Amino acid sequence: MNHEPYDTLAATYALGALDGEERVQFERHLADGCAVCEAALRASAETLAALARSAPPMVPPPRVKEELLHRIATTAPARDGRRPRPLVWAAGTVAAVIAVAAFTGAFVAARYEGRLGQMAREAAALRARVQRDEAALQEQIAVYRNVVDLLRDPQTQIVTLRGLGPSPGASGRVVWHPFNGGHVFVANLPSAPTGKAYEMWTIGDAAPQPAGVFQVDTAGRGTHRIPPVEGGKPVKVFAVTLEPEGGVPAPTGPMVLASSK
Ligand SMILES: [Zn+2]
Repeated sequence: MNHEPYDTLAATYALGALDGEERVQFERHLADGCAVCEAALRASAETLAALARSAPPMVPPPRVKEELLHRIATTAPARDGRRPRPLVWAAGTVAAVIAVAAFTGAFVAARYEGRLGQMAREAAALRARVQRDEAALQEQIAVYRNVVDLLRDPQTQIVTLRGLGPSPGASGRVVWHPFNGGHVFVANLPSAPTGKAYEMWTIGDAAPQPAGVFQVDTAGRGTHRIPPVEGGKPVKVFAVTLEPEGGVPAPTGPMVLASSK
């Protein structure tokens, strides 16, 4: 069979621009084994690779385009006086397709780089979040372990806190050991205003003793470790007040939670 129809099909095929019956025919021809077309495909692939490497600029260098047009033109035998042969049309198409492919390649590469950068940033953010979550979880586990240890001790007591004044719906429990201190767990306490925090107090026979500040989460829940009272002196009342966020040595703000005397 005459090989001529396949000469330009190879270049078009390399660009992925060959469709339909032509594509079927050409692939059948390739499958039969043709050194000429294989060489042409290799050359086209190299040209495309060179175009891809040349980005930016986003248009093929004129030299590459000229060389390709020249190669296609020289393989097209002249047939004067007849309508333009598909070969000539194909040459223009190939050049256009290559220009589009080069532009698209560079465009896609730029898009991918942007996307990859974004993915890397997202992965880093996710990793940071997982680490934060894990740290928070470890902290929570430490609290729970400590509470379980306290609950094993017969000296430990559970004290109920009731909401007062600005937050009547709030509630709390203190798990308290006279020598080891304990933990307070609160619920339904509104978030402290900016610059404010909740401060825990232990009240015995003397003035209220500050026992640290804490915040609640968006669901109104909070947990706070209460240090033991010096000398294991008995605590008669546990109370929580709203104070400046750094904490104060004596209560100044409204009492939001307290145990009954
Ligand atoms: Zn061939």
